[in-house]
Amino acid sequence: MSQTKQIEEKWRLKWEEARIFEANPDNAKTKLMVTFPYPYMNGPLHVGHTFTATRVDAYARFKRMQGFNVLWPWAWHWTGQPLLGASGRVAKGDEAFIRVLRDVDGVPEKDLKRFIDPLYMAQYYTNEGRKIAKRIGFSIDWRREFTTVMPTYQRFIEWQYENLREKGYVTRGTHPVVWCPKDKSPTGDHDRQVGEGVTPEEYILIKYKLDDETFLPAATFRPETIYGVTNMWINPDAEYVEAIVNGEKWIVSKEAAEKLKEQEREVEVKKIFKGRELVGKTFTNPVTKEKFPILPGWFVDSKTATGVVYSVPAHAPYDWLALKDLQEKPESLCEFGVDAETVKEIKPISIIEVEGCGQFPAVDIVREMGIRDQYDPKADEATKALYKKEFHGGILKDNCGPYAKKTVREAKDILITDFRQQGYADSMYDLPEAVVCRCMTPCIVKVLSDQWFLNYNDSEWKSKAKQVVTGMQIYPETARQWFITVIDWLKEWACARTTGFGTPLPWGKGWIVETLSDSTIYMSFYTINKHIREREVKPEALTRSVFDYIFYGRGDCAEISNTSGIPAETLRSMRNEFLYWYPFDLRVSAKELVPNHLTFCIFHHAALFPSKHWPRAMGVNGMLMIEGKQMHKSKGNFITMKGAVDRYGADATRCALLLGAEGMDDPDWRGENASDVQSKLQGVSKFCQEIIVTSKNTGEEHLERWLLSKLQQRITLVTSSLDEMKTRTALQVALFEIWNDLRWYIQRKSKADSQTLLEAVKIWIRLLAPFAPYTCEEIWSKTGETGFISISEWPKVNTKLLDLTSEEKENFIIDLIGDTLNILKATKIAPKRVCIYTATVWKWQIYLKLLERSSAGELKIGEVLRDFAADATLKPHMKEVSSLVPRVIKAFTKLPTERKTNLLKIGVLDELKIVEDALGFLSGRFNAEVKVFTEDDITRYDPKGRAGMALPEQPAIFIE
Ligand code: ATP
Repeated sequence: MSQTKQIEEKWRLKWEEARIFEANPDNAKTKLMVTFPYPYMNGPLHVGHTFTATRVDAYARFKRMQGFNVLWPWAWHWTGQPLLGASGRVAKGDEAFIRVLRDVDGVPEKDLKRFIDPLYMAQYYTNEGRKIAKRIGFSIDWRREFTTVMPTYQRFIEWQYENLREKGYVTRGTHPVVWCPKDKSPTGDHDRQVGEGVTPEEYILIKYKLDDETFLPAATFRPETIYGVTNMWINPDAEYVEAIVNGEKWIVSKEAAEKLKEQEREVEVKKIFKGRELVGKTFTNPVTKEKFPILPGWFVDSKTATGVVYSVPAHAPYDWLALKDLQEKPESLCEFGVDAETVKEIKPISIIEVEGCGQFPAVDIVREMGIRDQYDPKADEATKALYKKEFHGGILKDNCGPYAKKTVREAKDILITDFRQQGYADSMYDLPEAVVCRCMTPCIVKVLSDQWFLNYNDSEWKSKAKQVVTGMQIYPETARQWFITVIDWLKEWACARTTGFGTPLPWGKGWIVETLSDSTIYMSFYTINKHIREREVKPEALTRSVFDYIFYGRGDCAEISNTSGIPAETLRSMRNEFLYWYPFDLRVSAKELVPNHLTFCIFHHAALFPSKHWPRAMGVNGMLMIEGKQMHKSKGNFITMKGAVDRYGADATRCALLLGAEGMDDPDWRGENASDVQSKLQGVSKFCQEIIVTSKNTGEEHLERWLLSKLQQRITLVTSSLDEMKTRTALQVALFEIWNDLRWYIQRKSKADSQTLLEAVKIWIRLLAPFAPYTCEEIWSKTGETGFISISEWPKVNTKLLDLTSEEKENFIIDLIGDTLNILKATKIAPKRVCIYTATVWKWQIYLKLLERSSAGELKIGEVLRDFAADATLKPHMKEVSSLVPRVIKAFTKLPTERKTNLLKIGVLDELKIVEDALGFLSGRFNAEVKVFTEDDITRYDPKGRAGMALPEQPAIFIE
């Protein structure tokens, strides 16, 4: 076993033995509960989960060290279709899929055989998941673990749904849902192989007339454009049908007829034919009664809506492109017997006025974007851009009948209602993008009647959910508006399906609560599951009144104990434990769960709990990519948590992930970064051990003061960054910047034996412990500490140790080295001697005055020069002063604000002394003799007369 593995295993066992991550109510401590969305167990934990969960763990560890009583529980999601889908593919002998399980997930043959049982599969991945979550060092209280098919959990879901229904949040209704025709069930986001987040969209169908009794319903999101129609597009190569739809004769694509059947329409197909049969015919606009031709449009997708598209070339880029194609290549019309002259005469009809656009915005945008033809992918972009522009800023022109002069935005709804009333319009739903169920069947939209929905459309519920968001911390703050937008946008959500694992809807026979709907308030279940498990509470004992007592304090404990058979003391412990831990203090997830799970969690807390139990904070982060690409098992760029930990070790995996990104940026996993971090962490261990072995001397000199002061700044930054979930910044400072400080100290001292250094190391590794817990435990124990670093005290800032003068002195040396090395690099001199000339006192007077005025935002050169002239000390130097002022301003402008503030606080630096004290170090650094003088030292060696160039913080340098 490698040394890293041995160290990991040693500390893991010690943590487990000492049960340091098991958290119980303790009124002497402030509680803190952090959570992570339970991962779905149809596959192994991967580095994406690891990234998000490590952020939670680093925060949990940090807060624990700060003295909080931290609870970090974990569970496993088994509900829904994905497990059945995956197991079904094994059962069917899907070779490609099985190969991935074998080669990527590493499932042994004996287990693989049993994956035809979805429960076996789930249990296998759960066991593996638990092992690796422990190995990576997550500081979890495992006593609270559960899976979502456990009968006790199911009782909790029943309680939740009975309550929701009584409160009116679950309703029966008729709504469109994404539907798997094979499973005959709604397909929620997590039940999908492809198309997470896609929702049904409603198209308006304008019922153009082919003849007196036949309709040609064309689908659109822009019914107001009916006044600008010039022709119809039909894909000549696609199949269309003539069908009786609810008693009317319609012509739509073959696919559309199938879809309409699922949307509460009686559809009887009479005839199937190719689109080309329609080309060349004419149709009538039901509003204006004008007649127009039907033309061939190859861009028309028969799988989208009705496959019938009306053409508005003035305002729709595709329409203009298709028309232009026909006008420029009239030969393509020959086979349809369409008269090329008629097509040539078609002119776009302008119906919308938009500020800043010409009469024919579609024509303009096509030209401006250089779009070739109807097959150019840029046409899509142009369509979206123009639609947005016209919707938000468009006004209908005089040729738009009763809607003239109205804005597009206001006219749209009125016009839809009117057209529906007049029988000119209908509608249908479709998916804007493909959705595939986990059973691999393409999904459609179904209008489900009389089914169970969570009524996220309820305005009171929405406003309560917004109150939750208002009261929450959100990291990063920029995600707050996203939550609000999702709350506004969510509509009724089908909360039950007929297949998959899960809890039967208590009142709806044959329906199971779907996978996202059973995962909204389960964080509260962690608080009591410890008791359920330890005291072996039977599921049947978990009655509604038991949960009402635990979560709402309702009813008489003794009575409930009698009826349920749960001892009163257990009931009270559960109630107390819930009250102690709830609400949770932080939930962290990648951003793909904002539009569903995280917002559902907000809605359900608002519905079921009083405001004191509403979530306190949510953290949202990016989705991990693998070597710059999205993670896909089947495409081979997939890395399991186990794979990463086996190869790089737990700490390097954790740190490489956290260094990837923060905020909502997507981190990228790269093997070479992980290897690099692995060797850096080994370097940290070695570095610390050398210090531990040699430290003996005390020292209270400038450099010690500098180091301690620097460390206080680092403690402040790591702490505040972690508090805001900026895990990358925190780790960068904790790992690299402090290490640089320590190395600088050692270089300056040319030895590493001071007690201060050892103290610094002990602060350093505590700051690093939330990120690299194993490495830090090991170093901590080597320093002679006997307790665990994981529960040692988080370093506190000691403001008495802040020493700005020491910091500025070192900054001066660092800058001096940088400037000298730049000169050496530019001149390519191998130096014998480096002469440094520091600025004289009156220059400092000017420097500080200018800096002060500039920092206060009151720098008026004329005024300052007058003040300088009136100053007796400066008077003799006034000739030089005016040329000096711009140089000085330029010099301090380059400094970071923090350093400017420091300089104003501490005043004149004794630069001569600073350099004199560092002479040995500097000459070693430059490999040359180093001499230092003040610029007005009459004995100075200054063959080239450089001294006069000296400025404060920027000494003159002469090299020979
Ligand atoms: P997958 O969809 O990859 O099979 P899953 O369904 O188990 O994963 P969820 O249950 O949605 O995933 O996720 C559990 C947690 O892991 C969520 O917070 C989710 O945001 C996070 N997560 C999943 N994939 C990634 C990723 N690629 N990067 C970051 N976090 C991720």
